[in-house]
Amino acid sequence: MRKLELHWQILIGMLLGLVFGYIMTLVGGGKEFVLDWVKWLGTIFIKLLKLIAIPLILASLIKGISDLKDISKFRNIGIRTIAIYISTTVVAITIGLLLVNVIQPGDGISDATISKLTNTYANDSGVTSKIAEASKQKSGGPLQFLVDMVPDNAFKAMSNNGLMLQVIFFSIALGISMLLIGEKKAKPLKDFFDSLNDVVLKMVDLIMLIAPFAVFSLLANVVVSSGDPDLLLALLKYAAVVVFGLMLMIVFYSMVVAVFTKKNPFWFLKQISPAQLLAFSTSSSAATLPVTMERVEEHIGVDKEVSSFVLPVGATINMDGTSLYQGVAAVFIAQALAFDLSFADQLTIVLTALLASIGSAAVPGAGMVMLVIVLEAIGFPGDKLAIGLALIFAVDRPLDMCRTVVNITGDATVSMMVAKSVGKLGKPKVKNWDDHLDEVK
Ligand code: ASP
Repeated sequence: MRKLELHWQILIGMLLGLVFGYIMTLVGGGKEFVLDWVKWLGTIFIKLLKLIAIPLILASLIKGISDLKDISKFRNIGIRTIAIYISTTVVAITIGLLLVNVIQPGDGISDATISKLTNTYANDSGVTSKIAEASKQKSGGPLQFLVDMVPDNAFKAMSNNGLMLQVIFFSIALGISMLLIGEKKAKPLKDFFDSLNDVVLKMVDLIMLIAPFAVFSLLANVVVSSGDPDLLLALLKYAAVVVFGLMLMIVFYSMVVAVFTKKNPFWFLKQISPAQLLAFSTSSSAATLPVTMERVEEHIGVDKEVSSFVLPVGATINMDGTSLYQGVAAVFIAQALAFDLSFADQLTIVLTALLASIGSAAVPGAGMVMLVIVLEAIGFPGDKLAIGLALIFAVDRPLDMCRTVVNITGDATVSMMVAKSVGKLGKPKVKNWDDHLDEVK
């Protein structure tokens, strides 16, 4: 019998998880059962993915750069990547702002709903912690992100998943220096990182063996932990605008893939789908990164010289879904609380959401922290921030799941574009977890 393809296995796991989670919300003690006996597998799965993220970035970036043979190529890739990332993010924010201004989801919200949402969530630790986090992030000045990118201790950087940009910085510095000492001298180190890279990619294959079960656990947990269904319904129009915008982004990526890389967009979406499904289930681009890299390199055929730089950088700085959501959410909150926005305010949203999406961490809920900064930039009163966030908090998790899918799809699209533009988009070379099993049996 032909084995079911991975994306179908994961999809079935997700659907069963949703149904199981829903049934558990109906039975007494169901939520506790899921938290005690089901959630653990999903948590372990995310830990495993995060476990290999840093070694993978290190090994693949160093391998990618030291393969280049010519530093000017790296500069080429770097400039194109950043320029395209900024352009796609601006497209995303523009789509979000157009939709929210035309559909105006915030105008129909009744005062009763606003006060119910405020009473339920304004003092919720989920909301207050996001505001506190945002003020911490803001205190460093506009160029703080540059300072933060440079590590003062390589091992400290590697010991913290939140410091991914520092690891990228260190790996680039190491890779370039390896190029500069000449091929012969760099060979031992290069062989080491080549091998480490293959080993870590094999670990991705192994971890993916439990993916269908893990997504079951993750989604069952999301369902039992979600808020009051009535409140979710009240926010349906707002959520629909965000989801519609995100879907338009997928259409946009498909067109870009077709036009710039001449590949069939359905083929692209199929190859990347396991990573998309994991992004949806984990709400974290960082946790999904190892799988995104594996799919893009082995199943789409992007050369490591490109993907090893474009994808880790994209996971941390390119968040099209998040910026689209920030644009919609900021205007929705303003509409609902009758806070007037001028055209200049909307332009400010474009700029701050662009910067905010660059600054957002690739973890669940990070987009909402940076939304606080977007709201403050348009002069939204500080004492109403908690109310503003309370309005959208109930649907934040499902929207986070959807925007993370767009975030990683954007990264994959850009990696294809950059690869095509420098002649590095080749044929896929799929490797399976058991390719060499016979030799070690
Ligand atoms: N969860 C998103 C990501 O990891 C970030 C966000 O929008 O909150 O890409």
